[in-house]
Amino acid sequence: MKKMKYWILLLCLALGLSGCGSTGEILDEVVQSGILDEYLQPEKVQKIEVPKGEMEVHFIDVGQADCALLASGGHFMLIDGGNNEDDERILTYLRNAGVKKLDIVVGTHPHEDHIGSLDAAIEAFDVGAVYMPAVSANTATYRDVLDAVAEKGLQVQHPKAGDVLDFNGLPVEIFGPVKEYKDLNNNSIVLRISVGETAFLFTGDAETTAEFDILEQGFDISADVLKVAHHGSSGSSVEEFLAYADADYAVISVGIGNSYDHPEDVTLKRLQNYGMEIFRTDKQGTIVCNTDGENISFRQEGKSSQTAAVTEAAYIGNKNSMKYHTLDCSSLPIEKNRAYFADQAAAEEAGYAPCGTCKP
Ligand SMILES: [Zn+2]
Ligand SMILES: [Zn+2]
Repeated sequence: MKKMKYWILLLCLALGLSGCGSTGEILDEVVQSGILDEYLQPEKVQKIEVPKGEMEVHFIDVGQADCALLASGGHFMLIDGGNNEDDERILTYLRNAGVKKLDIVVGTHPHEDHIGSLDAAIEAFDVGAVYMPAVSANTATYRDVLDAVAEKGLQVQHPKAGDVLDFNGLPVEIFGPVKEYKDLNNNSIVLRISVGETAFLFTGDAETTAEFDILEQGFDISADVLKVAHHGSSGSSVEEFLAYADADYAVISVGIGNSYDHPEDVTLKRLQNYGMEIFRTDKQGTIVCNTDGENISFRQEGKSSQTAAVTEAAYIGNKNSMKYHTLDCSSLPIEKNRAYFADQAAAEEAGYAPCGTCKP
């Protein structure tokens, strides 16, 4: 039914707008309008029913950001909360997943792409405990999270390396941060959650310095699934860390065409060299991983409107300069200034000229 509505809607829009613009423009307009969000966003996620002792991890597609929802036996844990602008889609996703209470909320470190919508999530649901590293950021985003926690009558807790938390009977081992660092990324909470024989390692944006410090502590970081650190940046995922993690699967939470060039090729190669199968939210949208304690399976849960539109796109326009670029051009505009085009003709019809650098 929903699918049908979506096609009708798309047809109406195409007919209605075809007189004044190209396919690319229409697509862009449709995406900008947010009218498709209801249809393309992964809100179609069903209530999550996972027995106690088993677990499902939803790596929610939040573009260039992190957000993972963990579910087990009717209990929920949230590790990071996307950017500020992701609040509505995260709340909708969580509500549809059946979340009433978040037993544990982890903000791995105070960067916006990890705690942006945590305030909204904390306000919207009952919350058991909130964990963040013992470092602060002088940003409105960070203060919003603190305010939301305070309004719940809670205090942010700072776990120490070596602590073990409990998520509905599942052990959550804290490996990092081992100490305080100047760089916020290195202060990321790094944790492993074990489910029967299987384990998941979450690394936030921890970089090489933090990775070595964790290894030096002698923690057993071995896992089946690795949430790759810092969106696949080459400043993280050092070989030694990957060797000890010894994971079969790597999940990278990353925005398509992001300006950081994440995930970097060298990181992807490293992951492959260690035999990991790679899942990416920029290519696959929301990624769901299920474990019964022995077997691990993956499935896709749909793409955000942005990811869906961008997947179709072959060229990216800059709304300010009115130039269009190939997807791998070195001078792509920031996300909010982008227009997406399926082909060159669409870009030119919309009044965009080819970029002089990538010469499409
Ligand atoms: Zn960060
Ligand atoms: Zn990040």
